[in-house]
Amino acid sequence: MAIDKFYDIGRNIDAIKVKILDACKRSNRSIDSVKLIAVSKTVSPEFIKVAYEHGIKDFGENYVQEMSKKVELLPRDIRWHFIGHLQTNKIKYLIKIASLIHTVYKVEHLLEVEKRCEKLGITAELLIEVNIGNEVNKSGIPPSKVEELVKKSLDFKYLKIKGLMCIPPIGGPEETRKFFKNLRFIKDCINNNLGSELLTELSMGMSSDFEVAIEEGATMIRIGTAIFGERKRGGYNEDESN
Ligand SMILES: *Cc1c(COP(=O)(O)O)cnc(C)c1O
Repeated sequence: MAIDKFYDIGRNIDAIKVKILDACKRSNRSIDSVKLIAVSKTVSPEFIKVAYEHGIKDFGENYVQEMSKKVELLPRDIRWHFIGHLQTNKIKYLIKIASLIHTVYKVEHLLEVEKRCEKLGITAELLIEVNIGNEVNKSGIPPSKVEELVKKSLDFKYLKIKGLMCIPPIGGPEETRKFFKNLRFIKDCINNNLGSELLTELSMGMSSDFEVAIEEGATMIRIGTAIFGERKRGGYNEDESN
C-alpha cells in the first residue's frame, strides 16, 4: 500500500503540472510565473521526500512545531512556506526556518518580525493574508485595511511585504473566481497608489480551484490533497494546538 502511495504522489504532481501549463496557456502566462507549493501538513517526511525527489522544492506547513521537525529531517534546499494561522509568539521560531510567511495580518506581527530579525541580522519576506470574503471567524485582514498595513510596513527595515494571500469562502471554482480577481485588484491598486511594484506575489488557489486562480493571476498555488491525497485527522501531526 505504501508503494501505491509513493507511485501516486509522482503521478499526481505530473497531472497537476499539465493542468498548470494549460491554465498558463489559456491566460497567456509563462509557466515560470507560477510556483507550485506542496502543502504537506499532516504528511509524513517520507512522503514529502517522494515529492521532493519528484522535483518539488517548496512545501507549505500550517503548524510551527510540525514544520520545525520536518525542517530537521528533510533536505536543506527545501523552501518552507508558513501558511497556517500566525500567532505572534511563534514568530521567533518561524523567521529562522520559513522562507516566506504567508499569513501576516496585523501590525503586531510586523513589530515582532522586525524585532526578531533585527536581533539576528536577517530580513524576512512576508505576505499579507486578506480575509477576501469578509467572513466572520476567518483570519486575515479585511480588504479595506490592506493598504494601510502595507504602508505601515514601509517603516520597517528588516521585513518586506512581497504580496497578498487569500483563502476564499468555500464554493465551486467559478464562485471563487471573483475573490481571486478582487485580490489581484487590491494588489494592483496598492502598487498604483504607492507608485511602485512592491507587491509582486499572489498566493491563491488550492486543490479544487488552482486553475481558476492561475487564470486570475496567482503566482503561488498551494496544493495539498491533489498531491498527497485526503488528509486524515491525527496523522503525522500530533499537536494541532499551535
Ligand atoms: C491545507 C491548506 C491548503 C491545501 O488545501 P488542499 O485543498 O488540500 O489543496 C492550502 N492553503 C492553506 C492555507 C491550507 O491551510
